[in-house]
Amino acid sequence: MSHRVIPVDPFDYVVFGGTGDLARRKLLPALYQRHKDGQIPPGSRIVAVARTRREDEAFRETVRTSLQEFLPGAESDGCAVDAFLAMVSHVAVDVEADAGWQDLAAFLAGAEDRIRAFYLAVGPDLFGKICTGIGRHRLVTANTRLVIEKPIGSSLATARAVNEAVGSVFAEDQIFRIDHYLGKETVQNLMVLRFGNSLYEPLWNSAHIDHVQITVAESIGVGSRAGYYDSAGALRDMVQNHILQLLCLIAMEPPDSLDANSVRDEKLKVLRALKPIGEDEIDVCTVRGQYRAGASEGGAVVAYGDEIARSESATETFVAIRSEICNWRWAGVPFYLRTGKRLASRVSEIVVAFKAIPHSIFPKGSGVIHSNRLVLRLQPDEGVKQWIMIKDPGLGGMRLRHVPLDMSFATSFQARNPDAYERLLLDVIRGNQTLFMRRDEVEAAWAWIDPILEAWERSGAAPRPYTAGTWGPSAAIALIERDGRNWHEDSG
Ligand code: NAD
Repeated sequence: MSHRVIPVDPFDYVVFGGTGDLARRKLLPALYQRHKDGQIPPGSRIVAVARTRREDEAFRETVRTSLQEFLPGAESDGCAVDAFLAMVSHVAVDVEADAGWQDLAAFLAGAEDRIRAFYLAVGPDLFGKICTGIGRHRLVTANTRLVIEKPIGSSLATARAVNEAVGSVFAEDQIFRIDHYLGKETVQNLMVLRFGNSLYEPLWNSAHIDHVQITVAESIGVGSRAGYYDSAGALRDMVQNHILQLLCLIAMEPPDSLDANSVRDEKLKVLRALKPIGEDEIDVCTVRGQYRAGASEGGAVVAYGDEIARSESATETFVAIRSEICNWRWAGVPFYLRTGKRLASRVSEIVVAFKAIPHSIFPKGSGVIHSNRLVLRLQPDEGVKQWIMIKDPGLGGMRLRHVPLDMSFATSFQARNPDAYERLLLDVIRGNQTLFMRRDEVEAAWAWIDPILEAWERSGAAPRPYTAGTWGPSAAIALIERDGRNWHEDSG
């Protein structure tokens, strides 16, 4: 497979939270890979901003350790790592204490003409203060961009406040709200499957599609992010952003081009067409769960409340939703969404289930005719499977078999599968916002999520328990089985 490397223009990437988990695990390794592939031109600089000052050399050694930890193989590539580290600097700014800004301004002085990106890899409570500091020290140039991470608020009102705070310093076309799911290869491929083939689009509607499933399942627990997670829960952490973004890409009308606003206009229409789930439907359309002790990832694990040392927690670690999109294309087609922690396996996938054939011409005993399914696997093993019926090869009568046309990217193309952050970090430099969320999208998503949160709160019901290492509460299975359907299980 050809893998094109198109160098970007020289830039300064300023990463606030440059010593944090996200920077160490994702951002610096992603920039290292792009540098190693020759996409980052000489003279570009990466500035890791953190609260406390370290010596540049000592800081670079911590970056080296992170690369070795999070990029297996980097340790054997000493020269590439050294060349990358030469680009990396460190500046201390304490945002709360409002100290250190002069140092950052001095570092950036004289580089006003080049592309400048501020990446806020810090908690959202600091977004406003950082933007104010950036504005006050006149660090916003004509070529400046701002990248912010989830969570963007915890409700519509708080999301608006975050958007107001960053919007008071940056124009909307300078703000890149990152959702790393949108940088995944399969998600990109979804656009090509839909709009690069004439095969699917005529079938992509309620006349031919029975339902859609979106699953984002994790086998891990909350890990080191207990404080944040316990205040957020699965609905805010996964559904409001990642899952609704995937739903938008599946359901949107064809945009007139890949231009950022054309795509985002279409996604916004989907979010606005989501049928509200209020108090009257909360019990039939949603299931909240929380894991109990069980077995996961090959060992015994404790219950959520024990893991976070707050046994009374009523935060959901699992959610399943039956949603609907009220427009001509999708009326009557359920979109089943589910996500959770400590589930049976780590898998993110979208299943587009087509309608059953209207009549079978095959004799009894030929085998069950399953309806066609298109399965887009985001992780692990990114790829696409189109499930079809075939005749079992060979003699012995007409025996039917359900098999996948399997396009696993790793085996089909034998290419390194770049991490989503690699694409997205450089899209920021290229100024391409197609894979980033616009303000109105984020707010429309919250506008759909808020009534669910409110209805849960009013009902006062505790989340349903499920055993760690299973597929969630039995009510989540009932949610889809009530409609005569079942969650997809890959048997091929
Ligand atoms: P972290 O706690 O590991 O790092 C926080 C960083 O913020 C540190 O570098 C710290 O020095 C800096 N910081 C804190 N207070 C500061 C201050 N007063 N002035 C200057 N710097 C300060 O957090 P993280 O896991 O890296 O997450 C950062 C953000 O990204 C959070 O909003 C998180 O929700 C989001 N996020 C993280 C991940 C992930 O995988 N870690 C994934 C998605 C989103």
